[in-house]
Amino acid sequence: MMSLSHVQARLLIILGLMIIGISVSACAELAPQEPTEAVVATLAATTTSQPTNIPTTTAAPTLSPTSTPSPTPTLTPSSTTSPTPTDVPTSTATPTPTDAPPSAPTPGPTPDGVVRTLRVPILMYHYISEPPAGSHSYRVGNSLSPETFATHLDYLQDEGYTTVPLKDLISHLVTGRPDLPEKPIVLTFDDGYEDNYLNALPALAERGMIGTFFIITDFADQAETDETYTNYANWEQLKEMAATGMEIGSHSRNHPNLAGKDLDYLVWQALGSQEAIEANIGDHPHILSYPAGSYDQLVIDVFRSAHFWGAVTTKQGVTQSSAGDDPFELKRVRISNTTGVPQLEALLNYEWPE
Ligand SMILES: [Zn+2]
Repeated sequence: MMSLSHVQARLLIILGLMIIGISVSACAELAPQEPTEAVVATLAATTTSQPTNIPTTTAAPTLSPTSTPSPTPTLTPSSTTSPTPTDVPTSTATPTPTDAPPSAPTPGPTPDGVVRTLRVPILMYHYISEPPAGSHSYRVGNSLSPETFATHLDYLQDEGYTTVPLKDLISHLVTGRPDLPEKPIVLTFDDGYEDNYLNALPALAERGMIGTFFIITDFADQAETDETYTNYANWEQLKEMAATGMEIGSHSRNHPNLAGKDLDYLVWQALGSQEAIEANIGDHPHILSYPAGSYDQLVIDVFRSAHFWGAVTTKQGVTQSSAGDDPFELKRVRISNTTGVPQLEALLNYEWPE
């Protein structure tokens, strides 16, 4: 059962982006003030006419071949421009005060404005299995054997690390709560492979450890029916993982590069993946891993408006912060097929450039 219709959710996101647009403009002026007429006119223009094809949850939206702005791989604090009018699709439905608010997803923790900077490693795993003979180099490079994975977990426990869910880390960064253990660590797994269920889950569960699994929701659908996707965990398996205490987050619907995409497409990816997880697992997900590490400012704004609390990137590092957009630019440490315990130890103790 969906708690929120797509139209209602789209309106919420557009409203959210309007608020972001207003606050960005206020920040730019240094002194908070009413939005200027020009801003109001721009925002009004964004909500007055309907896009001709609204993406639905059943078919991939067709992207115009001309919409290929170059993605900005590195965001700087000064690059927080609101989307230009040409980037913003339009919509006929003008939200009115009489619109009954839909049963909105849980909003994120309210930031208390304190800038917290913590050294918390977030490890990035993919496959936990031996690659079949003749596998592609991507498969080989991103695979860790179950035996080596177990040695990682034992090492982390011996060193006094405690696994925490990513949403606890984000909440702690922006609100100071909940308290984190002395040596927190987050174990993330991208792509939702079936070997995560078969091999990572039991190894984590028997040690009382928590993993954070970022799943591609269309692939989880297809894992049930389509031969091509049988190496992805299906919903039954994912549900069992969640019931065992594992954290499930979004890795989008179908793993596109998100940078440079337009608002409709991003809303489709954000809400579609969120609704699929909620419908199948029962938990409303608040965390995201950018597919292929690809994102830009609009991606951050849309997912934040859809009540995501934060996101992990593929940028390397262990220093996490609550400042600005930093909760949507969390750094990770990449684990590859050559990461044994000595290499893991070196990565954890490395002084990563900030
Ligand atoms: Zn991925």
